[in-house]
Amino acid sequence: MNTLNSAALFERAQQFIPGGVNSPVRAFKAVGGTPLFMEKAEGAYLFDADGNQYIDYIGSWGPMLLGHAFPPVIEAVKKAAEKSTSFGAPTKLEVELAELITDIVPNVDKIRMVNSGTEATMSAIRVARGFTKRDKIIKFEGHYHGHGDSFLIKAGSGALTLGTPSSPGVTAGTAKDTLLAKFNNLETVRSLFEANPDSIAALILEPIAGNVGCIPPQPGFLEGIRSLCDEFGTVLIFDEVMTGFRVSLGGAQQLFNIKADLVTYGKIIGAGLPVGAYGGREELMNVVAPSGPVYQAGTLSGNPLAMSAGLALLTELKNNPMVYYELDQKSWHLEQGLHKAFDAYGIEHTINRIGSMISVFFTNEAVIDADSAQKTNVDTFKTYFHHLLNEGVYLPPSAFESWFLSNAHTYEDLDKTIYASHTFAAKLKHS
Ligand SMILES: *Cc1c(COP(=O)(O)O)cnc(C)c1O
Repeated sequence: MNTLNSAALFERAQQFIPGGVNSPVRAFKAVGGTPLFMEKAEGAYLFDADGNQYIDYIGSWGPMLLGHAFPPVIEAVKKAAEKSTSFGAPTKLEVELAELITDIVPNVDKIRMVNSGTEATMSAIRVARGFTKRDKIIKFEGHYHGHGDSFLIKAGSGALTLGTPSSPGVTAGTAKDTLLAKFNNLETVRSLFEANPDSIAALILEPIAGNVGCIPPQPGFLEGIRSLCDEFGTVLIFDEVMTGFRVSLGGAQQLFNIKADLVTYGKIIGAGLPVGAYGGREELMNVVAPSGPVYQAGTLSGNPLAMSAGLALLTELKNNPMVYYELDQKSWHLEQGLHKAFDAYGIEHTINRIGSMISVFFTNEAVIDADSAQKTNVDTFKTYFHHLLNEGVYLPPSAFESWFLSNAHTYEDLDKTIYASHTFAAKLKHS
């Protein structure tokens, strides 16, 4: 495979952009090698700067649920662009998207548009703090909520009551207000509440973890979280930036039949344009400026191109609920095929999947939280990643990411992926 143009672009990029990329995981640091620079994409396929074609399992990290360059989205964006790219004043498109989302998600009474998932989660905890007049938040180890200071906190062992920053630049003052719990472990959550009964403003989580690989909630876990938040007067925030409109039309809330107080969205709602949103119960959302005192603003928020793209995609999803059934069937086919490929050569593996989110961990142990995810054999993943890349299959370049299927994937694409996994497993067994 010739990737000389990508290599040359990466050389240039590194001179002028930190690490040569505008978001770290793109740099391939976790898998080694040189990142590929993309030129265009269509449906389930990416085309790089050297003209190589790949079956894409990133889907721009989620937005491309119906494939790249989905014609209704492209049409809508073109039409909007001709009328100007931004007004700095309200538009009908914003009203229409807010109406559509609040219609699809019944417990979201009001919603505010922002420009990224990071902004959405930052704003949601500000609302929770302003509403409850409390300072602390609970988050889970391994859950990602964007790069806001309060969320860049990791646990060391024994750090369950006091977070330490995992990035320089996050102050100790900020870190002390973020408490860490373990996903799928209600006891760690309960003990944080009991130690801080009157000071926890919000509990935020990915209802299905997707940023340490795909990890579904165990039965009863989300219910337990919901009732603890009720018991202690804490705002429950579902970060559905990844799961919203992906695991079902109404996201994880609908799939598990749990109502959060606030929900954050991103990725799919912008159909690939930069959008985030946070919404929830009326009494909570009414504290947001200008209806209330909690300040949050954005020069480009509700941008007309982004709103038209989101409207086109969500309208299509609402009108065609079969999409979710088809996605589930395709993802199941892939899951079964991968099991067979790895089993044929005795390769240790665990596959976690919910709908069109799927991850392969190279360990036989169940992966239920950030600690068990670490059991995956990272070296095996690196080899797997590069083997598949060579065969024209583009996986997320990290052992700790969910893959995202789109409905543009064909069974032939999936079978090619399974076949490449089979040849990988054979090679690994005999190496
Ligand atoms: C991607 C992601 C974010 C951050 O969104 P950005 O648009 O990258 O700022 C937040 N939460 C979750 C669950 C995500 O997957």
